Amino acid sequence: MENIVHFDVAAVIMLLIMFVVSLTRKSYKGTTNRMFQLLIVTTLFSALFNAVTAGLENYGCQNDLLLYFTRTMYLILHNFTTPVYVMYIVSLTRTWHKFKKHLCASVLASIPYVAILVAIVLTPLTGLLYTYENGIFTRGKAAIALYINAAFYLALGVGYIIKYGRLLKKRNIVILLSSVPLMILAIVIKCFFPNSLVEIFANAVSLMIISMTIQNPDKNIDGITGLKKYIAYGEEIKMDYENKKHQKIILINLVDFESLQRLLGFEGINLFLRQVAEYLIAHDRKFKAYSDIYYLDRGRFRVVVNSFNLKKAEALAKSISDSSKLPVRVKHIDITAEAVVCLADCPGDIKDFKSLMAFGNDFHERVVRTGELLYASELFKQRDFQIVNAMEDILKRGLENRSFQVYYQPIYSIEKKRFVSAEALIRLIDPEYGFIPPNLFIPFSEKNGAINKIGDIVLDNVCRFISSDRFKELGLDYIEINLSVVQCMQRGLADNVLATINKYGVSPDKINLEITETAANYNQAMLVENMTKLIDAGISFSLDDFGTGYSNMERVASLPLKIVKLDKTFVDNSNKPRLHVFLKGTIKMLKDMDMEIVVEGIETQQMVETFSNLNCDYIQGYFYSKPIPENDFVDFIKQSLISA
Ligand code: C2E
Ligand code: MG
Ligand code: MG
Repeated sequence: MENIVHFDVAAVIMLLIMFVVSLTRKSYKGTTNRMFQLLIVTTLFSALFNAVTAGLENYGCQNDLLLYFTRTMYLILHNFTTPVYVMYIVSLTRTWHKFKKHLCASVLASIPYVAILVAIVLTPLTGLLYTYENGIFTRGKAAIALYINAAFYLALGVGYIIKYGRLLKKRNIVILLSSVPLMILAIVIKCFFPNSLVEIFANAVSLMIISMTIQNPDKNIDGITGLKKYIAYGEEIKMDYENKKHQKIILINLVDFESLQRLLGFEGINLFLRQVAEYLIAHDRKFKAYSDIYYLDRGRFRVVVNSFNLKKAEALAKSISDSSKLPVRVKHIDITAEAVVCLADCPGDIKDFKSLMAFGNDFHERVVRTGELLYASELFKQRDFQIVNAMEDILKRGLENRSFQVYYQPIYSIEKKRFVSAEALIRLIDPEYGFIPPNLFIPFSEKNGAINKIGDIVLDNVCRFISSDRFKELGLDYIEINLSVVQCMQRGLADNVLATINKYGVSPDKINLEITETAANYNQAMLVENMTKLIDAGISFSLDDFGTGYSNMERVASLPLKIVKLDKTFVDNSNKPRLHVFLKGTIKMLKDMDMEIVVEGIETQQMVETFSNLNCDYIQGYFYSKPIPENDFVDFIKQSLISA
């Protein structure tokens, strides 16, 4: 009876299509993809050799040597598909590191395949599995071993899915397990119709289902770079943390990505990101690290070097870092983009996924850029990093234990020769980390929303202080309160502020709110609405940190501001002749617009004189006093009144 080869031919066609599709997909091949490709290739060639063998038998080929050769090849490959299937499952669960740990188990798991391999290769001599005599095929005594081998790896695969099922999505478990009844069905069919070659066809159908579902990359692949994207990083690395998998992550953040994006435009930036992705892939290949490469968003790339290649991670990271100044040639633009590269040993350096994300988000903004490779372990020894890492808890503790305090820094009027106001500055002392600088916790609290509560604490404290009798003795005109950008954009800001000052019966002219240039550059409509409402009620506004942001003169000029605060950078650079000229012009311009000028960060008598001569109105800085607690501040002002 002739073999029915149609099934094999159909399988070959299906597998070829899948192979071509997997090759031409514009996505980067991570470990799982590579494993899946191996599965397709193994099945494809086993189908080919099976079809050739069956074809030769059908045509009555009597060349035993040729038949032995094609059947041997078929059996080697076909029996390899089940172990590869297990390897694919291991890849999906990202648990390769377990095999490295339990070497003994890995050796045990490979024994059946090695044994069957030996049996297959020796069969032409021993006739154990089958024999050919003048082209006539006869099953050998040990032919059942082939089925036992397949059953062993199938059982191993199913066992693995059961043991590590929690690491897989439910849908994926169903898809993976669905291939088992399909295989069993194929074997049953083969028992009844021994000449129908349905086994490989069943394999091909399973692979087709997997390729259309689990391996379907649309959701996980970034369309621009072809790398795995944010969602995949989130799912996979979180899983690795749960699994206590040891791996090294190379974090690559492009510096000032937003500006680069503006400069290059939509098409330009996409082209550039693609170039970076190709560059990283090429580098990874050069080092044979077989990493998983991701593009998260906003210029953040991640190269995850898996457990087997950890030794290569540092050299790879160094090499990426050495070329971290990238020439960008997009259309007519020819510039240099810079990246900051950091190597993190996980979970050693960064203990959980949330911390990894928080750290990765902006480490490049918090380091001195030397162009050298950074090590997360070194950065984490720095106190600032430890604080930022624990910021969520620190803020929570601070709010729960009410450990926020408001300090005051006096502001001196050059004309009146006395202190006329003060800036309220928030302080947080944490029981574990001590003093937490506002420059660290304010930006964090803006992101997690705690800033609104912090803003309320400051406003409440200041209003309570102003309404107290002892404040009245100090003869101060007003207190300046910092508003964060997030607060400025809040719809209810004006009502909230007015409610608090009413609660304490504070006169609105005793409050001055500081906004920054960054706030002025955001949604101006909301800001102006808030400002107008508050100004109508009698509250005045200052522009803080003038000269540090992206000044947009037109916007700044159009805002109803009473005071402009020159940033400390002006003070630090005022001895540079050209800046002095610039400063002189700026001050004159602000004065012509009827604005009052405060200089921040004055530390010496000489600086007081310089800025008095430049016609500034108020001086604030360590020269007079650092920010101090309310009681000390009251004493300080009283003392200054006595000595005047
Ligand atoms: P800022 O509003 O520009 O405050 C001035 C900063 O300069 C304060 O730092 C102050 O301590 C510091 N400073 C004052 N005089 C000198 C000096 O002579 N030399 C030096 N080296 N520094 C001086 P601080 O208190 O660490 O606050 C940093 C920033 O955090 C503030 O900058 C402000 O943007 C923000 N911030 C502080 N308190 C609050 C708050 O209650 N709410 C909001 N939204 N932001 C706040
Ligand atoms: Mg301020
Ligand atoms: Mg300032």
